Amino acid sequence: MWMNLFNPSDTDEVAKKILQKGEIVVLTGAGISTESGIPDFRSPDGIWSRYDFTEYATIDALLKNPVKVFGFFKEFIDPLKTASPNKAHYAVARLEEAGIVKAVITQNIDNLHQKAGSKNVVELHGNATVARCMGCRKLYPLKELESEKYGFPPVCPDCRKLIKPDVILFGEMLPEDALKSAYQYSMGTKLMLVIGTSGTVAPASALPHLAKRSGADIVEINLEPTIITKSVTDYFLQGKAGEIMNELAGKILG
Ligand code: NAD
Repeated sequence: MWMNLFNPSDTDEVAKKILQKGEIVVLTGAGISTESGIPDFRSPDGIWSRYDFTEYATIDALLKNPVKVFGFFKEFIDPLKTASPNKAHYAVARLEEAGIVKAVITQNIDNLHQKAGSKNVVELHGNATVARCMGCRKLYPLKELESEKYGFPPVCPDCRKLIKPDVILFGEMLPEDALKSAYQYSMGTKLMLVIGTSGTVAPASALPHLAKRSGADIVEINLEPTIITKSVTDYFLQGKAGEIMNELAGKILG
């Protein structure tokens, strides 16, 4: 079972370390958004406990049965529309504004870092608040898509290919520019703050290793130890991201 073992004094050393390094890079996963009411995928009540991802979240599944996969998209995306950033997203944004966070690399598709005010966000898996044509790559507002203006499942009026939420499904390539930036930031940083990821989805899971090999310290915040904790983490803060990040940003920013 998940445990909140966080003790505020645990952040003292990490705050000092971050101030010493001056600039850091943040890597986030679904766990930073659970306190905003968006479930992660792999927790006991996560979405994969109800859906087999091979049937709903792969490019093959979409092409084989778009109506079924669009039903899944709806269930996943609806809560994102009204979700608000939590203390962890705001703390990351405040640290960026203060010049300490150089970039946020996120696996999330919920747009909450941007809503909180983060400017330099590298989205590895896309953004579910917009839609994109799979043929000509034209972007569409999600609400136009849902109005069924373009049919159901929606088809691009320009090239007649399927329009889908702008998220990366299993079996699809990651956006090249985002991946390149993520590698560069990971190799260039002296400290990586890893928040709320199980470290099981490649290639994001490789980034803390890359940062570590390039000489960075790794600070990890999670409710429970992960595969990252055991392999590369230097400082592990166990507990809720919102609480820990709020405390940490307070100590760094004074
Ligand atoms: P994951 O579901 O594999 O793991 C989530 C991790 O966050 C777990 O280790 C869990 O212990 C931790 N966690 C949960 N709540 C936390 C909290 N309050 N504070 C600190 N830690 C917490 O997530 P992942 O590693 O990001 O990989 C899942 C994939 O699913 C990603 O590719 C992502 O694109 C996608 N996804 C995104 C969202 C979103 O956009 N919010 C939500 C679910 C899944």
